[in-house]
Amino acid sequence: MTGLDAELSSRLRDLESQDLLRRLRDVGSPQGGRVLSGGRELCNFSSNDYLGLANHELLRQAMIEGVERFGTGAGASRLICGNLDPFVELEAALAAFKGTEASLCFSTGYATALGTVCALVSKGDFVVVDKLIHACLIDAARLSGATLRVFPHNDMNRLEEILQACDARHPGGAQGPRPNVLILTESVFSMDGDLAPLRDLVDLKDRFGAWLMVDEAHGTGVFGEHRRGVVEAMELSGRVDIQMGTLGKALGVSGGYIAGSRILVDWLINRARSFIFSTAPSPAVACAAKASLELVSGSEGAERQQRLWAFVNRMKESIIGAGWPLPPVRSPILPMIVGGEAAALGLSRRLQDEGFLIPAIRHPTVARGEARLRITLSASNRLEDIARLGEVLAGLRGEFGPEPVSDPDPAGDESPS
Ligand SMILES: *Cc1c(COP(=O)(O)O)cnc(C)c1O
Repeated sequence: MTGLDAELSSRLRDLESQDLLRRLRDVGSPQGGRVLSGGRELCNFSSNDYLGLANHELLRQAMIEGVERFGTGAGASRLICGNLDPFVELEAALAAFKGTEASLCFSTGYATALGTVCALVSKGDFVVVDKLIHACLIDAARLSGATLRVFPHNDMNRLEEILQACDARHPGGAQGPRPNVLILTESVFSMDGDLAPLRDLVDLKDRFGAWLMVDEAHGTGVFGEHRRGVVEAMELSGRVDIQMGTLGKALGVSGGYIAGSRILVDWLINRARSFIFSTAPSPAVACAAKASLELVSGSEGAERQQRLWAFVNRMKESIIGAGWPLPPVRSPILPMIVGGEAAALGLSRRLQDEGFLIPAIRHPTVARGEARLRITLSASNRLEDIARLGEVLAGLRGEFGPEPVSDPDPAGDESPS
């Protein structure tokens, strides 16, 4: 064994001894409410394909036609010779969907976060983030060189104190230019399923002249009358400086995007390094994403959104009925907090034996001791599978459930509208 492999195998053993080792699970079918894995059909309650579009016939056809018209590769970055028509059309459609002047696509949501945050703030500025923000935004904030400030999850009082302190650093510009302050949050938190108080955030950022970037990775397609996201549902269109999202979750394809002003997009084209120094995505991906936007904003999107929410409500009833505490969430992400890493893994394995795919979410994705089963619903799930999961969970409550919590209103609503 080489020195490198010896070192890494010792690190891997260490992870395993803490129940933190991760392994890939092979899936031998398209995404859907049921998937093939390990030679078995499993009911899939772990996908972010909220509207069940990842294997939709219209999107498949759009991608195939995209390949036939534009081939498989873009050949270069968008700024060199890779600005193929499908990207231009997709960005126009995204801007229209989000109600912004412009939009810009990246190869992934992760690359979107890195490129955008680093293009907007640098040393001498502040980036202020919610404690539970997604790893890509934490990485982006660190890489930017701006001073990082973290506020406790959704704590607007602490955020206000931090904004006051950032503001006071250069009173009246006496000690040089006033620093820029960028606030980062998610509209729907990816591992907890709760929503950010976006109205309060918008008021605060306006009061302090800060900039606000909202990651709608789990909001787009799911919230709002036209499925544009929580910003739409909370009637804040036009008041969020930078909207970010992914094309890989409810939209069922892959890629990331920013929606905002024309000037913002022009700046990102000039300064977002993950956009500039990366080959443009496959043009056919943009063709499929554009078809997805059309579908999502139309009547089929509305039907799928309705079905999804009916499933969410049904699943919440069964989880609570089975005696599992659920935090007050109102999204298709239902976190069943188990606590210990070993217990979460054990529960996930038992559920797999029963034919359910629900991985344990552990550190570092969530804090130590907050391991959980993250149940997500999709319009491609089946009512009978949801009912059976409820029964199985009821049977496992005694063995794996945490101590009952004293939350008087475990199913409380945090309605965005
Ligand atoms: C998934 C996710 C991303 C990353 O998007 P990808 O397109 O998958 O790279 C960003 N932010 C949040 C909150 C996410 O859940």
